[in-house]
Amino acid sequence: RAPIIAIDGPAGAGKSTVTRLVAKKLGLLYLDTGAMYRALTWLVLNSETAIDDEAGVAELISQCDLELLVGSRPDVPVEVRVNGKEVTDAIRSAIVTRNVSAIAAQKAVREKLVSQQREWGEKGGLVAEGRDIGTNVFPHADLKIFLTASVTERAKRRQKELTAQGKEIIDLAQLQGEIEQRDAYDSDRAIAPLKKAPDAIELITDGLSIEEVIAKIVQLYER
Ligand code: C5P
Repeated sequence: RAPIIAIDGPAGAGKSTVTRLVAKKLGLLYLDTGAMYRALTWLVLNSETAIDDEAGVAELISQCDLELLVGSRPDVPVEVRVNGKEVTDAIRSAIVTRNVSAIAAQKAVREKLVSQQREWGEKGGLVAEGRDIGTNVFPHADLKIFLTASVTERAKRRQKELTAQGKEIIDLAQLQGEIEQRDAYDSDRAIAPLKKAPDAIELITDGLSIEEVIAKIVQLYER
């Protein structure tokens, strides 16, 4: 069976960078499941359907075509297309980030995306990041990591990222508030909430460099 590594954790813990580089190092496919929820959120926001209209959302996404492409743009975790439309940058916007948890809590959305994620898992080895990879999508993963950092650390990293990307700088307290709100929403939902799997290894990344975190995960995998 192809190897599967699950990397879960709250918003802004550094999952994207770490997961992408671990995949590269081990020669496995990188799967950014957050990008999939973001892409469907973008689709709903750009439609006539309201975010909380579950039946309408289910209908809208039932036929939708989602493509993920890794590797050609180094500045983003993954390139994304929805129904042929390029949305790579649009899915990282503040409006998508603020609405994604409400879409990700809907049953039809999770069913569609989880089955697609499992299909990719059957094709070959992968390193997948998200909120429910170790608990729900791939409960038999070979290695499960729960990546966290304090909320202040995560807000600081997010602010640095915005600066590096030349985007509008958001005040640290506001960023921290938004991160906490998204974590609460993702943790309190009924289906597949954000939670550490009992057999996941928790890595708290405050004060650790990206290289140190990657080395630790590779070492745990090869052990
Ligand atoms: O990881 P990222 O911040 O891109 O995830 C965006 C949102 O997608 C999360 O806040 C969460 O609501 C949802 N998500 C999820 N399950 C996953 C991955 C992401 O519910 N496996």
